[in-house]
Amino acid sequence: MRYLKLVELYEEISGTTKRLEKTEILSKFLRYLSSEDRDVMYLLLGDIYPEYDERRIGISNQLAIKAIAKSTGTEEKKVIHEWKVIGDLGNVAEKFTLHKKQHTLHSHILTTKKVIENLRKLPELVGKGTVGKKLGLINELLTSANPVEAKYLVRTLIGDLRIGIQESTVRESMAVAFFKKDKEISEKIQRAIDRSNDLAVVFDIVQKKKLKELDKIALQIGKPIKAMLAQKAVTIKEGFEKLGTPCAVEYKYDGFRLLIHKNNDEVKLFTRSLENVTKQFPEVVEYVKKYVKGSSFILDSEAVGFNRKTKKYTDFQAISQRIRRKYHIEKLQNELPVEVNVFDILLYNGKSQLDESFEKRTKLLRRIVKNHTYKIISSKQIITGDEKKTKEFYKQALRDNQEGVMMKNLKAEYKPGRRVGHMLKIKPDERDLDLVITGAEWGTGKRSGWLSSFILSCKGKKKGEYLEIGKVGTGVKEKSQATSHASAEASSNERRKSGESLTFEELTKKLSPLIISEKGKDVKIKPKIIVAVTYQEIQKSPNYNSGWALRFPRFTALRNDKPLSEIADIDEVIEDFKLQKRNYRYG
Ligand code: AMP
Repeated sequence: MRYLKLVELYEEISGTTKRLEKTEILSKFLRYLSSEDRDVMYLLLGDIYPEYDERRIGISNQLAIKAIAKSTGTEEKKVIHEWKVIGDLGNVAEKFTLHKKQHTLHSHILTTKKVIENLRKLPELVGKGTVGKKLGLINELLTSANPVEAKYLVRTLIGDLRIGIQESTVRESMAVAFFKKDKEISEKIQRAIDRSNDLAVVFDIVQKKKLKELDKIALQIGKPIKAMLAQKAVTIKEGFEKLGTPCAVEYKYDGFRLLIHKNNDEVKLFTRSLENVTKQFPEVVEYVKKYVKGSSFILDSEAVGFNRKTKKYTDFQAISQRIRRKYHIEKLQNELPVEVNVFDILLYNGKSQLDESFEKRTKLLRRIVKNHTYKIISSKQIITGDEKKTKEFYKQALRDNQEGVMMKNLKAEYKPGRRVGHMLKIKPDERDLDLVITGAEWGTGKRSGWLSSFILSCKGKKKGEYLEIGKVGTGVKEKSQATSHASAEASSNERRKSGESLTFEELTKKLSPLIISEKGKDVKIKPKIIVAVTYQEIQKSPNYNSGWALRFPRFTALRNDKPLSEIADIDEVIEDFKLQKRNYRYG
């Protein structure tokens, strides 16, 4: 298939924000996609392998810039300059290719097969001379590409396709293309995607209209699937109303999600974004082998940090570096130990547990996990219909430095990747402060070209003094996400709170003229832009010069209306800290 055909589809799809229209356009395309071209299903989501596969294209902006420069005969400096102006490397590639094409007449026809073939070679290259070889492979594609093809090639290379297409759109489009629009069929296709995490495999079966074959797709150990997500409830009462009584109430641990796969002697650990982190957590591999019964299983859990001396649980920030760092693991393991809290089981001794009730699953996991505090335990849980008991349990969770509680319907199945109404999270009320932005970081990946991760400050005691109290990126939208499935899924409350209109682009435009100095990716910013920020808690922190840090901060709005003199001062922050203690910490 010509790559141009796919590129035309990208263009058409990004031309509309309406999901129904996107589905229609894509279903037409799928009807004519042959089985041989099934790997195009990966390209649709900007990938070259199924989601469970660890291999990623992984080309940095720097290398993409080099490739654009080389393939279009432009100076690198010029490419970088243009990137700063336009903000999207794909568009930069398009522009320079257009310019070049006026001078060159001949080029080869690019096929999706060739694109996939070359892109798949990229992650295989390691060691000496890699950069040159990678550039060679990329340039082979770029020199054959027309301007629009170049745009999407570059976006695919840097992992930022920006056409606003989600897996759910692909699912709907498959159903529409080969069957009539039918909820049951959609659900069947979704189940097959959930279990295989492989769109090409599912497409192949759907295209042949073999619905029975779809049912046979099973979970496989070692191939990570997406974790089930929770919705929010504001109060415990609301939780019981929605879930019925009794239900399971568990600590909502403040760590990171860890999906544990074990097959005989082999243990693999994956994060919520399906990243393999087995190497980073050798102690967890050992705990799983030692303290969980069974020859094969998939467990869902949250790993939480704790302080070896005080035995107190720490927040996620404290241990986040363990996920990324690949060196000095032993040292980190000593300094930042984790405890694994197992809260669900997806497969046991070869048998999928996804369709079993939570009641059955939680019983099973409690039978097989041998609790060892500070190593691996089954999540703290009560099964109750009593509000008062649940409140006590919730307060205990907060006292133990955790985020709140999860309430779970005992009858519900496990739905991978879905934000389900049968699992509800309850956290303390959020509060807000008006603060000023005094720093930021240039973003990478999807956020390249934009300022991201903004440093917030409040007023200090002295005139003109601003004290840092946190860093925030949450609540700001990447432009293309405005119509995404994720935001459509967010509750209206969440959407209101996250202030839909605020984008990285907008903030970058406002902040760029205020940059005082730059060091690497960090920039200092003149205090001028005021934002309203909600947060869950304030804690003492040595990381910021105010001595305080906001926990779970999120932008809600720009406060153009406020003068700098009216932002929160340090006394207000301390007052809020005291208030929160009275309110819910020790109840
Ligand atoms: P949130 O990230 O705020 O949407 O909350 C959902 C996350 O809470 C899950 O993805 C888990 O990482 C985490 N979590 C902590 N404790 C539990 C628990 N007992 N059951 C389910 N999820 C939990």
